[in-house]
Amino acid sequence: MTGQLTGKRGLIMGVANDRSIAWGIARAMAEAGAELAFSYQGEAFGKRVMPLAQSLGSDFIVDMDVTDDASLDRGFAELREKWPTIDFLVHAIAFSSKDELAGRFINTSRENFKLSLDISCYSLIDVSRRAAPMMKDGGTILTLTYQGSTRVTPYYNVMGVAKAALESAVRYLANDLGPDGIRVNAISPGPMKTLAGAAISGARKTFRQTEYNAPMRSNATLEAVGGTAVYLASGAGAFTSGEIIRVDGGYHVLGMPQPENL
Ligand code: NAD
Repeated sequence: MTGQLTGKRGLIMGVANDRSIAWGIARAMAEAGAELAFSYQGEAFGKRVMPLAQSLGSDFIVDMDVTDDASLDRGFAELREKWPTIDFLVHAIAFSSKDELAGRFINTSRENFKLSLDISCYSLIDVSRRAAPMMKDGGTILTLTYQGSTRVTPYYNVMGVAKAALESAVRYLANDLGPDGIRVNAISPGPMKTLAGAAISGARKTFRQTEYNAPMRSNATLEAVGGTAVYLASGAGAFTSGEIIRVDGGYHVLGMPQPENL
């Protein structure tokens, strides 16, 4: 059976478990015919990622911590040794101290600011620089963002600033890599029940708020985000670059909550 991604292969970064957005994307890409490698953060995550990868017919998993240059050097060397070329890279990685995903933004510490921006934004630039030379026939780089980048979302705090920086990085990378036929885009889903999502104070309320008020009256599913990723990595998305594509059931168009919820 041939699918939209048959003959393409790529690296999925950021599967922690079967609720991860990266996992939804991996599943959809595998169903579309892609061959996948996975990176994971340390041994404990590796144990969870291996059976998931195997369930999609892959045994190619590589340890990569994006805060550690040596780990990225080793990981990409391992990737290149087995696959000299790739067609896409999915970056679904973010982190901020849970203590600062609560309370007031004004209390953001210098230490957590640096860590959050490093893991959640700089890592995209770093891995793009490593992956681009492997995309000999062009390719696609995808990351994940959230509308807290442009609209204040209580408790999202420094992650909002990190996502604003990430979205800007998407545009600059798209411009740098466009001449090589490499497209760079971000998918912006509404809130989803994942490990990272649960770290944000009041996550349940945010989830309900979007579920009750989004024009589609539901939150994004892993399948919906996966479908968008397949579109972007396939020929169908061949001229889309530097874009932030919202998969939030239309929530971003609202000026106020639905009257029935007031
Ligand atoms: P998740 O917890 O399943 O995934 C986050 C991943 O980041 C994990 O796999 C973790 O191992 C990885 N990570 C963190 N620090 C790392 C490091 N130093 N090195 C390597 N990997 C590291 O949660 P998720 O919600 O699937 O998050 C994926 C992406 O989606 C993130 O960028 C997140 O901000 C974004 N996003 C999430 C939501 C949501 O509501 N969950 C909404 C919009 C965007």
